[in-house]
Amino acid sequence: MYIWKSLTTNQIKERIFSALQKNVDYKERTILGVPASHLDEKVFNRDMGFLEDAPFLSSMVYNPNHIGCHTMGESEAFFAGTQEIEKELIEIVAVDILKAEPNQCDGYVASGGTEANIQAMWIYRNYFKKEFGAKHDEVAILCSDDSHYSMPKAANILNIPLISAAVDDNTRLVDPVKLQVQLKEAKENGVKHVIVIVNMMTTMFGSVDRIETYTEALKECGLDYKVHVDGAYGGFVYPFSDDKSDLLLDNPEVNSVTLDAHKMVQAPFGTGIFIIRKEWMQYATTEEAQYVEGMDATVIGSRSGANAISIWMILMTYGPHGWFEKIHILNYRTSWLCEQLDELGVEYYRHPASNLVTMRAAHIPADIAHKYGIVPDSHNDNPKWYKIVVMGHVTVDHLLPFIEDLKKIKQ
Ligand SMILES: *Cc1c(COP(=O)(O)O)cnc(C)c1O
Repeated sequence: MYIWKSLTTNQIKERIFSALQKNVDYKERTILGVPASHLDEKVFNRDMGFLEDAPFLSSMVYNPNHIGCHTMGESEAFFAGTQEIEKELIEIVAVDILKAEPNQCDGYVASGGTEANIQAMWIYRNYFKKEFGAKHDEVAILCSDDSHYSMPKAANILNIPLISAAVDDNTRLVDPVKLQVQLKEAKENGVKHVIVIVNMMTTMFGSVDRIETYTEALKECGLDYKVHVDGAYGGFVYPFSDDKSDLLLDNPEVNSVTLDAHKMVQAPFGTGIFIIRKEWMQYATTEEAQYVEGMDATVIGSRSGANAISIWMILMTYGPHGWFEKIHILNYRTSWLCEQLDELGVEYYRHPASNLVTMRAAHIPADIAHKYGIVPDSHNDNPKWYKIVVMGHVTVDHLLPFIEDLKKIKQ
């Protein structure tokens, strides 16, 4: 049973405009106390006729502030109408995509995957400090060599150590034997609590971690841990392309998840999504945020409500079945590409449920990579890998000339 159902364009329009009406209208009511307003009307005239048919652009012009987290406690009453839409979005993502039980999660629309990951690590660091009196060098982040750079960034901001697990060069899986050694060493250095970041599709390879590689090694070492899943890339792909996934919230080991709507969902930038089980956001509450109704438990502070609306509109336009079909079409094209590469003898990595193909650079001349906008693992002089991301705009007709160019070189 889904809460998520596809809606018609008119239904979507009605819903957004009625939500905007429940927000404060600075023109209709005298609002003296907030440092916020609609967009500057000398520049962004809101009487433009087409805005009536453009719910997203209208939301931009009305400019609601979704400061704080709306799935719990109190929120700013001025923007209650559009906050409802964000709440519904968070519940759809938690329940219909990540398989949580209804009403068991909190979450919000973050500026991106980086912020959502930092939010998770911030919460767990504070949890280990508050509940166990842990010192900073006793709490470590554990991720893999293929993890996104937001993990070292977070280690730097949060002032805690980072353990990067070695991966196999062919399978991109974390090496369990090396991990044991790394964890023993960390324990000897005083680490007691571990924030585990499990990849649900990595940025460069689309590879997916085995959660039990981490959890078994940590249990064996006697280290306390909490698990966050980084689905910034894969959150809107993998749950639809692999129905045996154990990286979702129906697995009690998983406590929180990041997704990015500005990647595969093609939403505007500023649409990361953070989802966490209930009772955990409190570890990030800033008590000093007294002027914000309900206070603030997010990294970001003020943020645009239009971003949440854009994600909600896209998901409602497709519905769960439409989204499933979209992902499977992308994966079909990816399989087509892999068959061509097999015939050409080009070595590559592809996770069977992913729309990302990462080729060994030795097979791809730099001029061809440049011609087709194929991205290297490193912008230095000798990259090891080049990746193709099969997005909506990357059709078989677009892939064909690339394959033909490779064929010519081979001859
Ligand atoms: C893109 C990405 C991020 C960071 O997301 P931003 O939206 O760029 O902040 C984090 N993790 C993974 C796996 C990603 O692909």
